[in-house]
Amino acid sequence: MSEVKSSPSGGVRGGFVLVQCPATVANLVCGFDILGMALAEPYDIMKLKLIDEPKVIITNKDAYNLPTDAEKNVAGVVLLSVMEKMNNQFGFEVEITKQIKPGSGLGSSAASAAGAAVAANHLLNHIFSREELVQFAMNGEKLASGVKHADNITPCITGGVTLIRSIHPLDIVQLHSPPLFVTVVHPQIEVKTSDARQILRKEVLLKDAIKQWGNIAGLVAGFEKADTDLIGRSLEDVIIEPVRSILIPGFDEIKTKSKEAGALGGGISGSGPSIFMLCKEEATAKKVEQIMQEIFTQLGIDFKTYVTTIAQEGVKVVNAK
Ligand code: ADP
Repeated sequence: MSEVKSSPSGGVRGGFVLVQCPATVANLVCGFDILGMALAEPYDIMKLKLIDEPKVIITNKDAYNLPTDAEKNVAGVVLLSVMEKMNNQFGFEVEITKQIKPGSGLGSSAASAAGAAVAANHLLNHIFSREELVQFAMNGEKLASGVKHADNITPCITGGVTLIRSIHPLDIVQLHSPPLFVTVVHPQIEVKTSDARQILRKEVLLKDAIKQWGNIAGLVAGFEKADTDLIGRSLEDVIIEPVRSILIPGFDEIKTKSKEAGALGGGISGSGPSIFMLCKEEATAKKVEQIMQEIFTQLGIDFKTYVTTIAQEGVKVVNAK
């Protein structure tokens, strides 16, 4: 039988928590680094236990071969930062079952980072605030992409659609999310977040910035008012997408044909290569899936598709003892 005793923080050692960590779509086309949404599918599973020794032991239960060295795995980095905050009085054992492929642009690293922060907080009797969890989890994003960004982390923790108005100081705004369907295609090609960031221009023309401001404001207003036409009109990116989309074969054709089929709009998920489209009806979302399948089949590129919804809940405790 495992040892059960009170931790200094009031948590109980020997117990465990099992969490479900959703995939996320960052940027939402025009909101580079500031907007994101959680998806009902796919999701990772993570099991966490408190242990006496101040170290992080990682086991991977999937085929992705991610590092088990705590300093090289985003979940490990996040847990080490939680431990440091608590004066290294204990450690964690973590089991990761990854279903969101790393490097997909669907927030695979954020799922591990946010999942680790939320699960640790559960074991520590919820001592940390939402903002503190985002801060811990951003340490994982720094490891994965070199930059502390919260546009995947925040919706992964809180669910729905989120706006990061500012990182310093952290200012998170939860937006309304109408019940929309999301079609996602993940072509099995590699686009590294760090590479997708490097190719971006560092300067923006004022006329482009004005268009982008209009679209971001329109998109936020569209979500708040549940105005799906406004959401559709605002899903336009004149700054990042024209540069990044060249890394994704078939992108323009998918976007054009999906909109012709009735999708509200969409674009690159995070830094790609996944592409997402928002639809009002499930039947349209399925038509869009067919279009995506046909295009990548013609291109001879393997792919995976999902027809899902916006997840109203973020990292979810599915079992605990
Ligand atoms: P995504 O947008 O799908 O999260 P990223 O490129 O941002 O993709 O992150 C994936 C990178 O992070 C890969 O280099 C991967 O090896 C690294 N990584 C380290 N730990 C994890 C983890 N627990 N989950 C996912 N990726 C991880």
